Amino acid sequence: MLLRHTPTEVMERTALTVNPAKTCQPIGAMYASLGVHGCLPHSHGSQGCCSYHRSTLTRHYKEPVMAATSSFTEGSSVFGGQANLLQALQTIFTVYNPDVVAVHTTCLSETIGDDIVQIVAKAREDGKVPEGKHVLHANTPSYVGSHVTGFANMCKALVTAFAEPGTKRGGQLNLLPGWVEPADMRELKRLATALGVEVVMFPDTSGVLDAPQTGVHEFYPKGGATVDEIKSAGSSVATIALGLAGSASAAEALEEKCQVPREILELPIGIEATDRFIEALCKYGARVPEAVNGERGRLLDMMADMHQYTYGKRVALFGDPDQLVSLCEFLVALDMRPVYVVTGTPSTRFAERVKKVLGPGADTARIAEGAQADMYLMHQWIKNESVDLLIGNTYGKYIARDEDIPFLRHGFPILDRVGHQYFPTVGYTGAMRLLEQILGLLMDRQDRDAPEEKFELTM
Ligand code: SF4
Repeated sequence: MLLRHTPTEVMERTALTVNPAKTCQPIGAMYASLGVHGCLPHSHGSQGCCSYHRSTLTRHYKEPVMAATSSFTEGSSVFGGQANLLQALQTIFTVYNPDVVAVHTTCLSETIGDDIVQIVAKAREDGKVPEGKHVLHANTPSYVGSHVTGFANMCKALVTAFAEPGTKRGGQLNLLPGWVEPADMRELKRLATALGVEVVMFPDTSGVLDAPQTGVHEFYPKGGATVDEIKSAGSSVATIALGLAGSASAAEALEEKCQVPREILELPIGIEATDRFIEALCKYGARVPEAVNGERGRLLDMMADMHQYTYGKRVALFGDPDQLVSLCEFLVALDMRPVYVVTGTPSTRFAERVKKVLGPGADTARIAEGAQADMYLMHQWIKNESVDLLIGNTYGKYIARDEDIPFLRHGFPILDRVGHQYFPTVGYTGAMRLLEQILGLLMDRQDRDAPEEKFELTM
């Protein structure tokens, strides 16, 4: 009953956000940085911001997330954080010896206007950046955009810092995975390899945030794209960027800097989006092996067999724009009805993208994006007309409990379950997992609510 004061009457708001369907930019920048091998993310701001960002990532991935901070005090808040960042870089390279320090800003350092380019140049001049080591930065003010914006900004910063124009290498493709789980990144690489395509993928958090337990703590786990790999992205024949919000700006920067043509696709979640991903790979010499055909066939079989349980079910979804567009498309393929779709990440093309995948269902769906597209609004819509399934991050559990709705945890952050970092939802096998999770929830609910005479052993 935590949200019992949510009224059913929806009033137009211009300023207030209640229970936002997003989190802050630096979290995304930190996540992208962790997808570079030997990289230490650095938060240029106060300790509190860094602590919050680290703890959110740690709770979601169940792995210790390392990051440094400029540790602003009252003095640096007034006079600027240059001295703190210079000292921090010296200490980081002396004590922690990373290959790369990826600096992102916070609300505070952006508001006072710290010039990171100038500070990093001074650090180099002063000999605080050892030979062969790298410092890059992304501006990530959290009063703009969301964690997805921060992720995209850091991906673009990786291109700006490292990608080098070069002779085109036949066959090598760049793959920008967008904000997906480490398991998804692993699955994207597996699919590309199965199809015989050589890819450079960055960022790549597989092997970093899903690293195996070996009994030995590794400050810099084995995973992550290396600096040399990102440099070579400028010599690839093309870039496939997955997710407009998460990857498009980096792909555009790569095309501008190194003349590598880009193709932007939706995240390959669900059968149709995965088909398009596979077709895109096929343009660059990929051949679909029987094993991948088999995966698609098994997904199709599962969708057909279980159609009676998914048909016509009303679904409410909230989360990140790229995830939501592909999830909606998959739900429509299952003959489900996404009726409420909400993202807190501002995105001018979001409604257009969702409507496109919803097809005729777009006429009755409610779609909202931006600051006032929050979970409060979604709850109000649900109170007015309920749904059969709610999909979103952990924060949805309050609405699900209050309204007694089956709840699928998907997106970021998931703080109260495991599995999301280990089992992919991209590709055909990922779609099977998603469908299995959805079916489990719907069938459990059917069992719970079935009268005695309709309580079936076989479903
Ligand atoms: S919103 Fe701004 S002040 Fe708050 S944690 Fe994020 S970066 Fe720090």
